[in-house]
Amino acid sequence: MPLRVTFLGTAGAVPTTDRNPSSLFVAREGEQLLFDAGEGTQRQMMRFGTGFSVSHLFVTHLHGDHVLGIPGLIQTMDFNDREEPLAIHVPHGTRRQIKSLVRALGNRPTFPIRISEVGPGDVAYRADEYEVRAFASDHDTRSVGYALVEDDRKGRFDRERAEELGVPVGPKFSRLHAGESVELEDGTIVHPDEVVGEARPGRSLVYTGDTRPTAATVEAAAEPDLLIHDATFADDRVERASDTAHSTARQAAEIASRAGARRLALMHLSSRYAGYTDDHLAEAREVFDGEVFVPSDGEELEIPYPDGGDVSPDE
Ligand SMILES: [Zn+2]
Ligand SMILES: [Zn+2]
Repeated sequence: MPLRVTFLGTAGAVPTTDRNPSSLFVAREGEQLLFDAGEGTQRQMMRFGTGFSVSHLFVTHLHGDHVLGIPGLIQTMDFNDREEPLAIHVPHGTRRQIKSLVRALGNRPTFPIRISEVGPGDVAYRADEYEVRAFASDHDTRSVGYALVEDDRKGRFDRERAEELGVPVGPKFSRLHAGESVELEDGTIVHPDEVVGEARPGRSLVYTGDTRPTAATVEAAAEPDLLIHDATFADDRVERASDTAHSTARQAAEIASRAGARRLALMHLSSRYAGYTDDHLAEAREVFDGEVFVPSDGEELEIPYPDGGDVSPDE
């Protein structure tokens, strides 16, 4: 079951010719989610072939470089005769402003749009096998980050052991794997823990949006497979990072290290570093042992299961 991230926009507050303002596209098992929608997001979606079947949009905060793509995107969805509802999740106290963006210039979309406010600790969206939670970020306006966390998967089913115990191949296998005990013809009871291994963790990704480094990001998900963190500045502007409520690449890497993240994507680079990412990467690598990279617009990333193994939860 693939979990894929497409970096639609990786710029800081001001775009460059190579980088669009912030937006992330996440696809999981036929479901498509969008995190932030800076100006031009719809065109990035066309360019990188993601399609427009997004069911949820998660907004980290209301700075223009994260939301100005919303009116255009919604108008295009409307032109495409969209009928499916769109859920928009926004930080507390910002619903009214987002509503006015959605209805920019008197536009009235004909498909249903639901805007809900979320605060730190809230589950913004509960899906069948995962949830998207909001967590506190530290920016100079109302803001949250989001963590997509999959449920644990069932443990591995030990088929050989089940056969040794005399369980007939068939529905009893599935019942055991689902956690039920089964009775054999001779009256023996076989319990799931005899044939099913420990539950295996699902995958997780954490997206901070704009923020200073915070403990809340460390706690947003246990050992996230991917942490996408504000890295607006390099060490040369550490004070400016703090003054403007952003992070440096090194600070992002310290958070990644404390969180036990497997991979770190440095996002939202200031346009003053246009075309030059060496310092960001070198400074982050001094404090983080995992894989670190500065994504380009359009870059796609597949997130594997932490145990590297099975794709299907039923295997
Ligand atoms: Zn920003
Ligand atoms: Zn901002």
